[in-house]
Formats: sequence, structure tokens, C-alpha cells
Amino acid sequence: MSELKEAMELKDVKFFDQLSTYDHENLVFCQDKHTGLRAIIAIHNTVLGPGLGGTRMWAYKNDVEAITDVLRLSRGMTYKAAISGLNLGGAKAVIIGDAATQKSEALMRKFGRFVENLNGKYITAEDVGTTTLDMEYINMETSHVVGLPESMGGGGDPSPVTAYGVYMGIKASAKQVWGSDNLSGKKIAVQGVGKVGGHLLEYLHKEGAKLVITDINQGALKHYADKLGATVVGMDEIYDQAVDIYAPCALGASVNTETINRLKCVVIAGAANNQLADEKVHGQLLLDKGIVYAPDFLINAGGLINVYSEHVGYNRDRAYGQAEKIYDLTLSIFKKAYEDKIPTQEAAIKLAEKRINDILKVHSTY
Ligand code: NAD
Repeated sequence: MSELKEAMELKDVKFFDQLSTYDHENLVFCQDKHTGLRAIIAIHNTVLGPGLGGTRMWAYKNDVEAITDVLRLSRGMTYKAAISGLNLGGAKAVIIGDAATQKSEALMRKFGRFVENLNGKYITAEDVGTTTLDMEYINMETSHVVGLPESMGGGGDPSPVTAYGVYMGIKASAKQVWGSDNLSGKKIAVQGVGKVGGHLLEYLHKEGAKLVITDINQGALKHYADKLGATVVGMDEIYDQAVDIYAPCALGASVNTETINRLKCVVIAGAANNQLADEKVHGQLLLDKGIVYAPDFLINAGGLINVYSEHVGYNRDRAYGQAEKIYDLTLSIFKKAYEDKIPTQEAAIKLAEKRINDILKVHSTY
């Protein structure tokens, strides 16, 4: 123990400063020698309800990288739930390790026991590196898990609902810029044609949009080029396309100083989490350039809406109905941003924080 204390003092590790930066409530470290489990659960804010957020399994380079990621992602979940009108707080978990080689039933079940120990303050779900089967394993040890298969009373894959919400966000953005939400003839670049991007392409094609796509996965590209007549471009070329709308549906941070200078679109609206490399800097840069940005955590909330529906008793129609509201919500954020002369991301965060503070006052009496 004295070695650990010495190492932490030498590196001047300030965990509480990290937690207080964005006002996190808990950071829980979970360790188990037998299964090799090393996980961190971050609970950001539970004013609106239990913290819900997926478990990401990733081979982080070091512990600081894992802590940084889980703190950042859990905060995003708080805003996503708050702005979507859900009675949920924000949380997230990361398991440190390679999902392809280090995952086992025992490891996932051990993690489930740690989740159980939090007595429902944290509800877990699927994320990058975890699957529906992993959720089934976790469910063997705790009931505080969503994203279970339909055969087990769950909502199944949330991606179709996410895609529908993103589609609503794109249509609202079109309405804002062109006065009509009709996407017929609009040229749309979609980066990443995976689970969400693929469903999104179908909606856009049905409405008569012209599609430009890129991905690492050549098979998926061929599929959509053949099926929907989409034009395939290289991964880096996507930023130089003469398109009306850019829809990032792959990675975070694809909107940065370099790409903003190259993008020719008028709208950015897609599914990826944390699209802006730097929320403040790039939110402002987009405003200065006159590019309308549909906040990611607002328009990709369909997946969370779907798993929330599972938490309160799954109903597919209700999930889609709630995802449809993303259209009006996106327009109201554009209006607020315009009136306050602030970036749309900032306007969305303000609205989310307002709901949390309002409900905090509601909870102030028994
Ligand atoms: P996915 O893994 O099914 O699809 C991502 C696709 O992006 C893959 O086809 C992958 O090959 C491709 N890709 C990866 N790197 C790329 C690159 N550099 N250039 C182009 N393509 C690249 O994931 P998904 O579930 O479709 O999620 C897409 C994004 O949306 C992620 O950022 C995810 O965090 C976010 N999101 C997903 C959901 C959901 O319900 N699945 C909900 C909210 C947010």
C-alpha cells in the first residue's frame, strides 16, 4: 500500500479534482483477480433518476485514459437523458481489456455483481465492445441491466430507433436552413454505414436524397451502393464532398479545426457521440462559419429512449413516438441558440441543465 501511496503522490494524482470538474457523484473501481476484471463505473448525476449508460470494453492504453473516457461519457448521458425528458440520470462503465480476447462469461457476470452492489443507482446496457449476450450474462447477476433481447422481454437492438431519431434531427435541420424538411434531391454524406448509419441510409433514400458514403467495411459499402445507388468515396475524401448535409455515424471528434475548414455542407447532423473534438471551440467555429449543427446527444437519443422504454415496460410504438419528438426539440434548440447568439451545442446543454435544476427543486420537499 505504501508503494501505491508513494506512486500516487509522485504523480500528484488528484481524483477528487477530476470528479469535481464536471460534478460527478461517484467513481467506482471494480477489480477481480480470478476473472481479470478491471472496470470503472462513473455516476455523473442522479437528480432525474438512476444513472443509465452502457458498458464499454476497450483496451485503454492506461488507467488515466480509461478514467477520462468514463467521466466524459457519463456526463454526456446525463445531458442526453435530461434533454429527452427521461427520468434518468447519467452514468457509464468501462471495462479495461480487449473485447476480442479478454472477455468471458465469468468476467461479465462478475461485473454484473458489482453493478448489483450499487442497488440500482446504476443501470447498465450495451456499448462498444459489449453485446446483447454480455447483457444476458450480466442479467444472471443483477436486474439493473437493459438492452436485453426481445425474447427476454427487452427492446432488442436500439440502433433502428437511434437512426429514426437522427433522421428526425436531419429533417428538422433541413427545415431550419431551407424552410422545408423535404430531403428529396438533397446531397447527404454519411460517414459510417454500420448499424445506425445503415438504417439511416434507408430513410434518406426513401425520401429521395442523393447519398455519398464511406466506411472501412468494403462489404457494407458495396451493399448500399448496389441497393440504394449510393456513391462510395474514400475515408478521408468524405470531408471534401460538395454536399448539403454531413452525417457523422462512425467516430467521435470528426468535427475539428481541420475538417471544419474542408467541409462544404450547410448542416452537420449524425449519430456519432461526441462529434465536436472540442465542444466550445468547434461549436463556436461552426456558428462563425454559418454551419447548422444538430447537437449529437440530442438527435442520437433514440437508443437511450428505447432502453428507457425497456426499463419502464417495453413498448416499441412508444419508443418511436418519443424519438419522433426529436424533430420539434431540435427546432426549439435552434431557436434558443439563435435568440441567445450561442452555439447550438451550448443551447442544448443549457436546456438539459435547466431541466435538472428545475426537477432538483421539485425533489426538495418530501
Ligand atoms: P457500428 O459499429 O455498427 O457502425 C460504425 C461504422 O463506422 C462501422 O461500419 C465502421 O466500420 C465504421 N467506421 C469506423 N471507423 C470509420 C472511419 N474512420 N471512417 C468511416 N467509417 C468508419 O456502430 P453504430 O451502432 O452504428 O454506432 C455509430 C455511432 O453512433 C457511434 O459513434 C455510436 O457511439 C453512436 N451511437 C449509436 C447508438 C446505437 O443505438 N447504436 C446510439 C447512440 C449513439
